Amino acid sequence: MAQQVPTIALNDGTRMPQLGLGVWQVPDEQASAAVQAALEAGYRAIDTAAIYGNEEGVGAGLRTSRLARKDLYITTKLWNSYHGYADAHKAMDESLTKLGLAYVDLYLIHWPVAGSDRFVDAWRAMIEMREDGRARSIGVSNFTSANLRRLIEGTGVTPAVNQIELHPAFAQEDMRVFHAEHGIATESWSPLGQGKMLDHPVLAEIGKQHGKTPAQVMIRWHLQHGLVVIPKSVTPARIRENINVFDFTLTAQDMDAIDGIPEADRLGPDPEKFAMA
Ligand code: NDP
Repeated sequence: MAQQVPTIALNDGTRMPQLGLGVWQVPDEQASAAVQAALEAGYRAIDTAAIYGNEEGVGAGLRTSRLARKDLYITTKLWNSYHGYADAHKAMDESLTKLGLAYVDLYLIHWPVAGSDRFVDAWRAMIEMREDGRARSIGVSNFTSANLRRLIEGTGVTPAVNQIELHPAFAQEDMRVFHAEHGIATESWSPLGQGKMLDHPVLAEIGKQHGKTPAQVMIRWHLQHGLVVIPKSVTPARIRENINVFDFTLTAQDMDAIDGIPEADRLGPDPEKFAMA
């Protein structure tokens, strides 16, 4: 049975599904099938990026569905080599063409790009994209609190979302507090720890008590913390498993036990250093 995903309110008056499918590392030729499986299972949100090289496959998958455009929630991201004002406008048009869409629901600056200091230029272009309707909402990814302050002070426009690495072993409490203070939604990337946490004993034990898998327990942990969560899978059974999380609730003790999982090193790059073009 298709699952109903709750939505959260963003600071620009729109709403965003709290769970979606991530498609990083999904080859373009597999993206359509993954998106199709997700839509059939009840997902309405897809998280892609220009750099993933699969916007065309994602678009093809969306077109297999009879869902109305307004019922879909599509995120893509501006890559690092397009941070200039004019380049950002051009990159958006390229993404829309590849996706086959007239607008995206959410457009994110993928990384702040350490040392380049041009994200404010990109943000000015993105504010215009929101005004001209090519993006319903605009946000950022991998931004530190200093980066966010700079954007807000430089333009007066607060991002709706910051998508950051976040999973039980890298829980980003400081960023969550900063976001809450500034009305920014927190979106968790690599929410399953890239699949590396699936045999964690704390998650396995809690899962056993609820008749759920460690992946489902982790997804519930994100949801109950009010985070937006975008687990990636190309495996139809796992795509279905990951949305089958609305028939149980973690107890306060379960949440505390997961919160207590010791902090490990981040899995992805450090935003204060990452500058890949
Ligand atoms: P995830 O934490 O979502 O883990 C994905 C891995 O877990 C895959 O190997 C997948 O395998 C496996 N998996 C998924 N569900 C299950 C399950 N139920 N049981 C067992 N294994 C499972 O990793 P990602 O790094 O892909 O992060 C998710 C999304 O976040 C990305 O796809 C992307 O959209 C976004 N992201 C954004 C970044 C950014 O800089 N903004 C950086 C990194 C990610 P399989 O596919 O083979 O089924």
